[in-house]
Amino acid sequence: MNAVDYLRISLIDRCNFRCLYCMPEGSELDYILQQQLLTHSELLTLLREVFVPVGFTKFRLTGGEPLLRPGVVDLVRAIASMPETRDLSMTTNGFLLAGMAQNLYDAGLRRINISLDSLEPETFDKIIGNRGRSRWTEVWHGIQAAYQVGFNPLKLNVVVIPGINDNEILDLAALTINRNWHVRFIEFMPIGNGDLFGNKGWIASEELRQQISEKYGLIESGVRGNGPADVFQIPGAKGTLGFISQMSECFCDRCNRMRLSADGWLRPCLLNETGQIDLKTALREGVPTRELRDRVQQILEIKPEINFKQRDSGTNAGNYTRTMSQIGG
Ligand code: SAM
Ligand code: SF4
Repeated sequence: MNAVDYLRISLIDRCNFRCLYCMPEGSELDYILQQQLLTHSELLTLLREVFVPVGFTKFRLTGGEPLLRPGVVDLVRAIASMPETRDLSMTTNGFLLAGMAQNLYDAGLRRINISLDSLEPETFDKIIGNRGRSRWTEVWHGIQAAYQVGFNPLKLNVVVIPGINDNEILDLAALTINRNWHVRFIEFMPIGNGDLFGNKGWIASEELRQQISEKYGLIESGVRGNGPADVFQIPGAKGTLGFISQMSECFCDRCNRMRLSADGWLRPCLLNETGQIDLKTALREGVPTRELRDRVQQILEIKPEINFKQRDSGTNAGNYTRTMSQIGG
C-alpha cells in the first residue's frame, strides 16, 4: 500500500466545455454558489494546517476548469511557495491556456496535463459539446504555448470513446514520436452518466496497446510516475504513452490520493463516497484545524478499505450521482 500524499484539489466545478462523458447534454448541473466555494484563504489554511501536517506534499489543481477560477495564478504562486510542496501540477482543458501559460509558469507551476480527445476539430467539438466556432485551435495553441514556455512533463489526456475517437489512437500516439509529450489514454468511467455508451462504454487499455504495438512497436518505458498510468514508449520516441485502466485493472492497492472538492468536501475515493468530510463547513463553524487534522488522519487510516471494489455495496457506496466536474477529476 502506498503512502497517501497526493491531493487533487478542485478549484471550481464550472467549466467552459461540456464533454459528453463528464457533463452530458441535457443534464442540468447545480453549480456550487460562489459563497460555497472554499476561498483562497480557507484552501491555504487547510493545506498548511491540515493536509501538510498529515503528510500531503503533492498537489494537483483541477476542476471543472481550473483556469476559470478567479485568481488561479495567485493560488498557484502560494501553493508552489509552500516549503513542503514537493510537486504541484494542473489538469486543464487548455482553452484559456495560451494566454495564461507564461504567468502560470512564472508563478511556479511546472507540470501540466491538458485534455485533448481528438486531433480532428469536428470530432473534438462534438466531444466537448460545442456548436459554435471550433474550439480545437485555441486548445492546440494552448498546448503549444505550454510546450514553448517549458512545462515538463507536458501530458495530454485522452478519454477513449468507442465509435467517436477510437479511430484516432494511432495519430494521438504518434504525437509522442518527435516531441517530448506524454499521451495518456484513459478508460471512460461510468460517472455522472454511466449509461451514455451502453454496454460498450470503454475500451480496455490492452486493446489500445495491441493496436499501437502492431503499427509502431511498443516497449515498457521503465518510468513510473506518481499516478496510476502504466507507461510505455514507441521505440526511439521522445515522449511516452500512458494507459490508465481503472475499468479493466483495479489499481486501488496503489492509490496514493484523495480529492478535495471546490466546496470543501474531502473524498477518499473517486467512486466510493464512504468517509467524506465537509471540511469547509467545519472550518467556518470554527472547528480548530488540529481537530480537522485528526479527522483527516482517521480517514487516512481507513482509506485502504475504501476503494472501487466496494462501490457496489454498502449504504453510501456506489453512488455516482456527481460528475467528474463536480467531484474534481
Ligand atoms: N477541465 C479539466 C480537463 O478537462 O482537463 C480538468 C477537470 S476534468 C474532470 C479532469 C480529467 O477527467 C480530464 O482529463 C477528463 O478527460 C477526465 N474525465 C472526465 N470525466 C471522465 C470520465 N467519465 N471517465 C474518465 N475520465 C474522465
Ligand atoms: Fe469540463 Fe474537463 Fe469535464 Fe470536459 S472533462 S466538461 S473540460 S471539467
